[in-house]
Amino acid sequence: MLTDLLNKHLKVDINKMRKTNFLESQREFELKMISNVNNKNGWKEISVCPLCNFGKYVKEFDKYGIPLVKCEKCELRFQVKIPGDSNAVYQDDNYTVYTKEDSCEHYEYRKERFGRERVQLLERHCGRLAKKKILDVGCGNGYFLSVAKEAGAFCFGSEFSEKLRKFTLKEVVVPVYRESLDNFPEKDFDIITIFDVLEHIESPVSFMSAAAALLKEGGYIIVYTPNFDSFSIKVMKEYSSIIAPAEHLVLFSYEPAKYLGDITGLKVIHMETRGLDIHSILACQDYRGEARNEFLVKWVDELQAMIDVSGAADYMRVIYRKGC
Ligand SMILES: [Zn+2]
Repeated sequence: MLTDLLNKHLKVDINKMRKTNFLESQREFELKMISNVNNKNGWKEISVCPLCNFGKYVKEFDKYGIPLVKCEKCELRFQVKIPGDSNAVYQDDNYTVYTKEDSCEHYEYRKERFGRERVQLLERHCGRLAKKKILDVGCGNGYFLSVAKEAGAFCFGSEFSEKLRKFTLKEVVVPVYRESLDNFPEKDFDIITIFDVLEHIESPVSFMSAAAALLKEGGYIIVYTPNFDSFSIKVMKEYSSIIAPAEHLVLFSYEPAKYLGDITGLKVIHMETRGLDIHSILACQDYRGEARNEFLVKWVDELQAMIDVSGAADYMRVIYRKGC
């Protein structure tokens, strides 16, 4: 069973994913974003849970003096202070997903390693992509849409960043809109993908309701988002790169993800986790000036494979179906 598990485990080339000392770079970036917010519109207080509106919560921990709390009803984790104007974060020149430094080689790696894996996951649970109408929300530089298009899907993207929108229009040659989901020019999608977006959203219920309204009856929504109930967050707490107060406003785990579906007419048909927990723990040891744990270094892939299938990895993938 272990051999089978390890054979199926897709390794990650961490050098293509992260800079050395990436936790230090992330800390500098986060502090800059926090300073932007302080200097522009300041912070907005959140007094009730953004998912279930319950008013009681308990603190998990602080990061940079900003508390992350757990709703006592639905278990969503959320920041009680969020940027008053998200432009202070997302319109900053430092906020880039694809830059000149992020080379073509890295784009190709992401496309081959993650774009293909995403298409395979979709085809396993939602059937062949050929002739399906797909919307990728927050499509970034379009590496997923590029693979989905090769699989024969009719692809659309949504993206706020003008730079990324132009890149995807030119490189992937698919329509990419800047309109929000509640004002979107296309509808009747078979599949909507929401990769690494939900955690940035202040009002996840209205966001998912708007996405569900664009979906055909029986259509699917696939969400990739951090899993708060993960091994690495248990070990690292506020040192985890997932805890990012200016950006990650809401953090899900399985129960709140299911709850989000229940109140927006979507049923969870599949949930799994994949992550970089062990690499993150090693990066945390570097950051804190500790020696890298040799056992973790030696067994990084094996340990990660086991964490992934146990549902305890630091990123989760949830597939919802509408009306079934
Ligand atoms: Zn709640």
